[in-house]
Amino acid sequence: MIDKVSKLDCVGCKACGDICPVNAITYELDKEGFWFPRINGDICVRCGLCEKTCPALECHYASHENYEEPKVYKVYNKDKDIRYNSTSGALYYGLADAFLKDSGYIVGCVYDDDWKGAHHFISNNHDGLKKIMRTKYFQSDTEGIYKQVKKLLDNGKKVLFCGTPCQVSALYGYVGKEYPNLYSADFICLGINSPLAFRSFIEELEKTYKSEVQEVHLKNKSRGWTNLGTMVRFKNGKVYYGNRITDSWVNSFVSLRIHIRQSCENCKYKTFPRIADISMGDFWGLNFTKEEEKYGVSVAMVNSPKGDLLLKNASENLIIETRTIQEATRGNPRILNCVKLNPRRAEFFERLSKEPFSQVVWSIEGSNKAKRIYASVKSSAKKFIKNIIGK
Ligand SMILES: Cc1cc2nc3c(=O)[nH]c(=O)nc-3n(C[C@H](O)[C@H](O)[C@H](O)COP(=O)(O)OP(=O)(O)OC[C@H]3O[C@@H](n4cnc5c(N)ncnc54)[C@H](O)[C@@H]3O)c2cc1C
Repeated sequence: MIDKVSKLDCVGCKACGDICPVNAITYELDKEGFWFPRINGDICVRCGLCEKTCPALECHYASHENYEEPKVYKVYNKDKDIRYNSTSGALYYGLADAFLKDSGYIVGCVYDDDWKGAHHFISNNHDGLKKIMRTKYFQSDTEGIYKQVKKLLDNGKKVLFCGTPCQVSALYGYVGKEYPNLYSADFICLGINSPLAFRSFIEELEKTYKSEVQEVHLKNKSRGWTNLGTMVRFKNGKVYYGNRITDSWVNSFVSLRIHIRQSCENCKYKTFPRIADISMGDFWGLNFTKEEEKYGVSVAMVNSPKGDLLLKNASENLIIETRTIQEATRGNPRILNCVKLNPRRAEFFERLSKEPFSQVVWSIEGSNKAKRIYASVKSSAKKFIKNIIGK
């Protein structure tokens, strides 16, 4: 039964509940705001399907055709608006747009109506794509999605599923056989954050700005892609903007790593071959032009023949340049290395129940903040000098 998976290993993908033939599995939130399965032993028929599906127990591939090492490309979308509004270089939008035009269905993560949570969602049109695009840096609720995807596949529809590597593996575990009409995309994943932490961040802003949220844009590029901006627009017309130095959300995640799911510390998916047909990320580590710094650049890792096809079909939307796996891993060590979690996470979650989100973050961040500001000023000065010398 699925309860043999320890709390430290469970990835919260919710595939076990979808596969259970007698609905014996429900989910509980722990005090960090992550989902964990709970089995009703009175109903369970001990069929073992939950274990077979679980991506924490086994990595599930679509087929054995995945390449030993990905083919690597530097990619960005030709449409500047779409690129600006995406998280990296809008590789995802390019793939999904081509897929929709070929009568496919896309499955990905969208914000809940109140912008304080996220869930997986299926669409066959561009209105859906506009909601699915953009990264939501916290765990998406996937309950029921695997069942719905399998129905579409069995009805002969073409599906492009996008999620964390463990969610993609969960889907392959769930469907249990190779479907020629199933395509998948995942991304380089630092680790998945607590939905409770994100909710607390947004609720604090709502209090400060005395209004409900109208839109959230994480990694907003109004001051450049490399600035890791967070933009929140409120119904009363006010706008919050914070960056890698000033924003408590970015700092809690990128620098403190204080509310990442514990299973991410031992992620099984930081390896080659990768699970999904294509993997996306930021192509950190290259020398960027000014335009690239503003609008973002994606790395595409093509992991299978289906990944080749996805990229080829989207090539009208994208500028694509061949690069090497060494360049990709040098700039983005998260491709292969697991995140180290902050030892003060228990204190963080304990205090979060009593104090505002930003207060807890800044107090734990303490002297780190001064070091980061110094590093950031130094790097801006270096860039400035390089630009002057370049001229
Ligand atoms: C938690 C998290 C950590 C990440 N860490 C890194 C990293 O360390 N290094 C790096 O290079 N890239 C990282 N990424 C990936 C990066 O942020 C972009 O998502 C990716 O490059 C795609 O960008 P894009 O511009 O092509 O498309 P976008 O439009 O920005 O991407 C949208 C796609 O991402 C999916 N998605 C968005 N949020 C979630 C979510 N919460 N759960 C599941 N799927 C989601 C959507 O379904 C959609 O398919 C991370 C993403 C997430 C969600």
